[in-house]
Amino acid sequence: MNSIRFDALNKLAKTKAKISDAEYSTSPQYAQNVFNDIVLQRSLNQQAYNEVSKAIFKGTKISRSLADQIAAAMKSWASSKNVTHYTHWFQPLTGATAEKHESFFDLSNTSEAIERFDGSQLVQQDPDASSFPSGGIRNTFEARGYTAWDPTSPAFIYGNTLCIPTIFVSYTGEALDYKTPLLRSTSALDKAATDIAKFFDKNTLKVLATLGWEQEYFLVDRTLATSRPDLILTGRTLMGHESSKGQQLNDHYFGSIPPRVLAFMQELEHHSLILGIPVKTRHNEVAPAQFELAPIYEEVNLSVDHNALLTDLMNKIAEKHNFTVLLHEKPFSGINGSGKHNNWSLKTNTGINLLSPGKTPMNNLQFLTFFINTIAAVMKHESLLQASIVSASNELRLGTDEAPLPIISVFIGEQLTEVLNNLEQVSKGKLSPKEKTDLKLNVIGKIPEILLDNTDRNRTSPFAFTGNKFEFRAVGSKTNCAKPMTVLNSIVAEQLIDFKKKVDLHLQNPKMKKDDAIFNELRDSIKYIRTILFEGDGYSESWIKQAKKRGLSPLTSTPDALKEYSSKKSVELFKNLNVFSKRELDARVEIDLQQYILTLQIEGRTLGDIARNHIIPTAIQYQNTLIENVKGLKEIYDSSFEMYAKEQMLLIERISGHIEQINTGVSKMIAERKKANLIEDNFDKANAYHTQVKPYFDTIRYHCDKLELLVDNSKWPLAKYRELLFSR
Ligand code: ADP
Ligand code: MG
Repeated sequence: MNSIRFDALNKLAKTKAKISDAEYSTSPQYAQNVFNDIVLQRSLNQQAYNEVSKAIFKGTKISRSLADQIAAAMKSWASSKNVTHYTHWFQPLTGATAEKHESFFDLSNTSEAIERFDGSQLVQQDPDASSFPSGGIRNTFEARGYTAWDPTSPAFIYGNTLCIPTIFVSYTGEALDYKTPLLRSTSALDKAATDIAKFFDKNTLKVLATLGWEQEYFLVDRTLATSRPDLILTGRTLMGHESSKGQQLNDHYFGSIPPRVLAFMQELEHHSLILGIPVKTRHNEVAPAQFELAPIYEEVNLSVDHNALLTDLMNKIAEKHNFTVLLHEKPFSGINGSGKHNNWSLKTNTGINLLSPGKTPMNNLQFLTFFINTIAAVMKHESLLQASIVSASNELRLGTDEAPLPIISVFIGEQLTEVLNNLEQVSKGKLSPKEKTDLKLNVIGKIPEILLDNTDRNRTSPFAFTGNKFEFRAVGSKTNCAKPMTVLNSIVAEQLIDFKKKVDLHLQNPKMKKDDAIFNELRDSIKYIRTILFEGDGYSESWIKQAKKRGLSPLTSTPDALKEYSSKKSVELFKNLNVFSKRELDARVEIDLQQYILTLQIEGRTLGDIARNHIIPTAIQYQNTLIENVKGLKEIYDSSFEMYAKEQMLLIERISGHIEQINTGVSKMIAERKKANLIEDNFDKANAYHTQVKPYFDTIRYHCDKLELLVDNSKWPLAKYRELLFSR
C-alpha cells in the first residue's frame, strides 16, 4: 500500500543528488534547424527567390514548378542534416499538434530504392484524418481532409523529421484546424489596417499582427505525479488539502530558480533557439512550482506555431528531467493558476508599431486611431472575446487567485484616460485652426512623454494597454493562441473597415480635411468605448455590479459563453471577412461543447475512481487501526476505557461520516452523469454537466480533503500538495 508515493519521495532525494551542471553553449546557433528566409535565399536562384518572396508578401499562390524547386532545396538541406523523414505538421482542433511521418525513401518503376520529395508532396498531403474532430463537417463517408503547405511559416527539423507547417481542411475546403481561420483573419486585418495606415503614410503596403505570448506552467516531479491518477488523466488535482505554506509569503515569485528546474529550462531554451523560437525571458511565477517563459514577439501566425511547438518540446524535455509539465489552467486549487498573456500589436512593412506613440503629432494621431479602434472592437465584441478563451479548465482559473475577472474590460492607465477626455471635447465638424494647434501641441503631441512614465499596471484587468501593445490576459495557459488571435484580428479588422467608411463619408465634403474627419470619428468612438474602460480593482463587488449595469456580460459558464459564436453579430462578422462560414462556426461550437462535456466526464470518472478505490479503502484501513486501538483499550481498562478511547472513537465516527458523504456523493454524481449522457443536444448536455454534475466535484473533494487531514500520513496514497509543490 501507498508505495508509489513513498517510493517517489525516496527516489526524489536521489534524483536531486544527480543534477548535473548542464553544458550548453550560451548562444546555440539560432534557428539552425529552420528552413528560413536566409536558407531559402541561399538555395534558390535570384529569380525564383524573388517570386517566392512576392507570393508570400502578397499572399498569392506559389506555382507548381516553383514548389518543385523549393521542395528540392528543402530536401537537400534536410538530408545534409541527416533527416530521413518529412511530415506535414498541423494543429487540428484537439488542442495538440499532429504529424504523420513519411520517409523520403521510395521505389522507382524498376523497384530501385530512390529518395523522393517534390512539390506535390510539399504542397499537399492526404492524412487519413478521420479521427480528428470536425464538428460534423466531415461525414464519415468523406472522412478525409487534406493538409496544405503554409509558406509563411518556415519548415523546421524536429528530431530527424522535416516538419512542414500546414493548414488542415476538408475536401470541401472548410477549416478543420486553428491555422486556417487565423490566416484568413490576418489577411482581413492586413487589408483593413493598411487602408487606414495609408491615411498617415502612403508607403504602408502591409500590416502584420504581432504576438508575444507569456507561457505560464507548473513543473512537478514526474515520479510523484505518477502517484496521482488525477494528474495523469486530467492534468489537474481533483483533490488535495491545501499545503500549510502556499504562496502567501510571495517568496517564490522572481526568486532564484531551483537548480533542477534551471537544468530543464536551459535544455528547453537550447532546443527552442535551434528551432528558431526566440525565447528570452524565464522566471519563477507567484505560485510555488510555477514558472514562466516568454519569447521575443513575432508575426502572429509564426508566433502561434512556435507556441504550439514549444509546448510539445516542453513535454519531451521535462520527461528527460523526470518532471511533468502541467499546462492546465488550474492544476491546484487555492493558489494561482496559469495563463498565457497574449501581447498583441500591429506592425507595418515599414517597421512601425501602430500601437506605439511616435515623435510627431501626426504619428500620434495614427497611434490614437489604432488604439481607440481596437478598444471599440473589444467593446462591440466583448462576449466573443470571452467565447474565444473559455474551456472547462480556464473556467476554473478566471476570477480566482489573481487571475483576471471573467468580465472583459479594458485598462488604459490614467494618462491615456486623460488624453481621451481631452479628445472627447473637440467640436463637431471642421476644427478651428486654434483648436487644432492646441490639440496637436498639448494633447496628442505629449503622448510619448506621458507613456514613458505610465508604469501603473493592473494585474486583474483581462485586456490591458501596456505602453506599445495590448495584453489579453484572460487567455489560458493551455489554449491555442490562434483561437483568441483569430477573434481579435477579425473584430479589429471589422472595426477599421467601419471606421474608414465613416471617415470617407466626412471626406465627401470637400472642405473637410483628413485629420478633421479622423478627429470627429475618434471623438464619437471615445463616447462609445466608455462602457468597456475600467481602471479599478476588478475583484471588487462594486465592479461586478457596475459591469452588469453597463451591460457587460460576466461569464457564467463555458457553454453559455460559447453561444456567442452563433450570435447574428458574430456570424455576420466572420462571414463578411471570410474568416468562418456559418457551418464552420457551428462546427467549432460543437467541438468546444464536446470537449467541455468530455473533460467533465473524464474528471467525474477519475474523481469517483480515486474517491472509492483509493481514499475510502485507505480511510477504512486507518479506521480499523483505530478500532483495534479502542478494542485494546477496552481490554486493558474494561468499563473505564471510554476515558482513554474517547478521542479515537470520535475519529472513528468522523471518518465514517466522511466516507458516507463521499460514497453518496459519488453515487449521486454518477446518476447525474447518466442523466446528462442521455441528452442529445450538446449545448443542453454541456449545461447539464455544468449545473448538475460539476457541483459534486467540490462536495466529494471537500470530504476527501478532510480525510487527508485525519488519516495516518504514512497510509495516504496520493502525493500531497506540499510534496508536489515543494519537492524538487
Ligand atoms: P510582463 O510580464 O510585464 O507582461 P514580459 O516582458 O514578460 O512582460 O512580456 C512581454 C511580452 O510582450 C513578450 O512576450 C514580448 O515579446 C511581448 N511584446 C513586446 N512588444 C510587443 C509587440 N509590439 N507586439 C506583440 N508582443 C509584444
Ligand atoms: Mg504580461
